[in-house]
Amino acid sequence: MSKIQAIRGMNDLLPDNSSLWQYLESTVAQCLQSYGYREIRFPLLEKTELFKRSIGEVTDIVEKEMYTFDDRNGESLTLRPEGTASCVRACEEHGLLYNQTQRLWYSGPMFRYERPQKGRLRQFHQIGVEAFGMQGPDIDAELLLMTARLWKALGISDAVTLEINSLGTAESRAIYKEALVTFLSGVKDQLDEDSQRRLSTNPLRILDSKNPNTQSLLIDAPKLEEYLDEDSHQHFESLRAILDCAGVAYHINTRLVRGLDYYGYTVFEWVTDKLGAQGTVCAGGRYNGLVEQLGGKPTPGVGFAMGVERLILLLQTLDKVPASVHQSPDIYILAVSGKASADNTKSVEAYALSIAEKLRERCPQLRCHSHCGGGSFKSQMKKADKSGAGIALVIGEDEAISEKLTIKYLRSDQPQQTLPTAAALDQLVNVK
Ligand code: ATP
Ligand code: MG
Repeated sequence: MSKIQAIRGMNDLLPDNSSLWQYLESTVAQCLQSYGYREIRFPLLEKTELFKRSIGEVTDIVEKEMYTFDDRNGESLTLRPEGTASCVRACEEHGLLYNQTQRLWYSGPMFRYERPQKGRLRQFHQIGVEAFGMQGPDIDAELLLMTARLWKALGISDAVTLEINSLGTAESRAIYKEALVTFLSGVKDQLDEDSQRRLSTNPLRILDSKNPNTQSLLIDAPKLEEYLDEDSHQHFESLRAILDCAGVAYHINTRLVRGLDYYGYTVFEWVTDKLGAQGTVCAGGRYNGLVEQLGGKPTPGVGFAMGVERLILLLQTLDKVPASVHQSPDIYILAVSGKASADNTKSVEAYALSIAEKLRERCPQLRCHSHCGGGSFKSQMKKADKSGAGIALVIGEDEAISEKLTIKYLRSDQPQQTLPTAAALDQLVNVK
């Protein structure tokens, strides 16, 4: 019978890699917590309407990337393509936005039907951050300082650069949109196919086109910054002043727009040139209209999401995987019963397992690997060596009867020792 394989673009995370993921996730969580952000978790499935209303009907995500299906009651549901909409929905539903500010983060899988390639998957993972109830630009800046600190903690600061832009207010954007459409309509037949379509649906997205010909046509196009009103200008200038004061370098990219409809004022991306075409590792911006759009009271919001797979790729590409990520056991505990008699086997193994429990009891951070499944001394030693453990703790019948333990050092010249159990345990709990 043929084997069933995973869905294209949906990866398994194998044990060799999971400790790197845990390292990344815990480093991020620790950084976010140090700024007072708290975790929120929401379901993977939501009503389709939530994403249509928030992300926008004519965006790539809603038009062609969502995993949408009818459940058994005929209700249209969608696997979340991003977290902001669900986060707003959950906050509103539980009254978290009423007369208060919130600093929140979440982490987990997102789903988009895209063409799978390096750094682009159909099930991918994001760690997202949202801050509600603050107009900025101080909170916008805090998000950027926080990400800058995170890159430092991960050792990747030199490989990422910050791009920022202002999309201004909805009113200034609307006036600009008109000017852009008028200009681009004049050169419509020279635009790439996607951009021609976007001219009537989502013209700002054309600024973001990857097509070189379209990009060269845009050189003479009206510039969004020239259409920003006073308030938008001031917001952006103040953000820049805070970043300057904090020494966070940035590049103003006037063509930076986001693929989701709800952004205004600040937008930003952290990009790298080390990952080929999929170079954005973190992206976000301000979305003051979204909460209201989803039925809540007008509430300012700003946030970002980072792509976990891309950050993992970047850590690997830059060789920034810390040694601690390779989780070898500290101690490999052998249980060698000389005779094959069932009783003997039981007593040696029982004794070895009880020693392992004592070690964990006294030193919870110690990584003890108990050999299970029997085998000769030689074959168990081979496995101990292969495990990368620094110490093999040998427990045979002699040890079990006389309540002693034999410590063998696998990575140094220290001679092996056979000690009474209590003395051996004292020594072993000090290896950490
Ligand atoms: P892109 O321009 O790369 O398609 P996007 O604008 O669609 O990105 P966002 O919706 O802003 O991306 O998501 C934030 C981050 O999530 C991205 O910067 C990226 O790191 C990551 N991301 C988005 N889509 C994918 C995907 N299909 N596979 C892996 N990571 C992704
Ligand atoms: Mg995309």
